[in-house]
Amino acid sequence: MAASRTAFLMYHELELPGRKLVQSEPGYVRYILPLEKFHSQMKRLKTSGFRGWSVSEALRYPPEQGVCITFDDGCETDLIAAAPVLRAMGLQATFFLTSGFLGTPGYLNADQVRELDSLGFEIGCHSRTHPYLSDLADAELIREVVDAKLEIEQILGHDIKHFSCPGGRYDGRTLEMARRAGFRTVTNSQFHANSATTSEYELGRVAMLRDMSMQEFDATCQGRGLWKKRLQDRARHSVRKALGNRAYDRLRGSLLGDDRA
Ligand SMILES: [Zn+2]
Repeated sequence: MAASRTAFLMYHELELPGRKLVQSEPGYVRYILPLEKFHSQMKRLKTSGFRGWSVSEALRYPPEQGVCITFDDGCETDLIAAAPVLRAMGLQATFFLTSGFLGTPGYLNADQVRELDSLGFEIGCHSRTHPYLSDLADAELIREVVDAKLEIEQILGHDIKHFSCPGGRYDGRTLEMARRAGFRTVTNSQFHANSATTSEYELGRVAMLRDMSMQEFDATCQGRGLWKKRLQDRARHSVRKALGNRAYDRLRGSLLGDDRA
């Protein structure tokens, strides 16, 4: 792979033996990796000589081979399952938190957020209540982008720089709001690797799915084969656009379960 192109990986909650997930719908579970699988992937990165970067580190587009590792939603498994594996392998990551979920069952509480931060991991924001931002009126958008940022900063005692869009949905207003709130980047869930020429407000990420093979993982980290995922996503996006987000979710829900990011 050209060292200047970096894949940003998007993880969610991890599955631990005997532990209930925060949601059980197939559309959610599709994005949940068992801890053992996540561990194998991180080990693979390590043995292949790949670095694991936070968003801030990845944005410098270092010459070494590496990937940006991100987690959405702020589940408790960020700290109790992902962090120990990342630390053991010497990999960095950014954890995007949904501020309104913090302290509720299955999600990080304020002390755990501070612990994750003090371990040296990067904390970002994933909205306040996880709505599709492109559906919101301006006042709601302020709550989801600006208030969420302030809530997380109040817990941490320092500012945060990065935002990830719930469900990957965004529009021009969302990006403008994020910029005005002081976020330096916005990541979405579009299947492309990023480079120094990618807009920092439209950074793509690759969803890490439960059924992903190691072969597919290798290709993803090298930025190969993403065009296939892009085509599939484009087909889904055009249906979503024609129907609107809510009708799309109902349709998808009846076929597969709710889509998610
Ligand atoms: Zn999410």
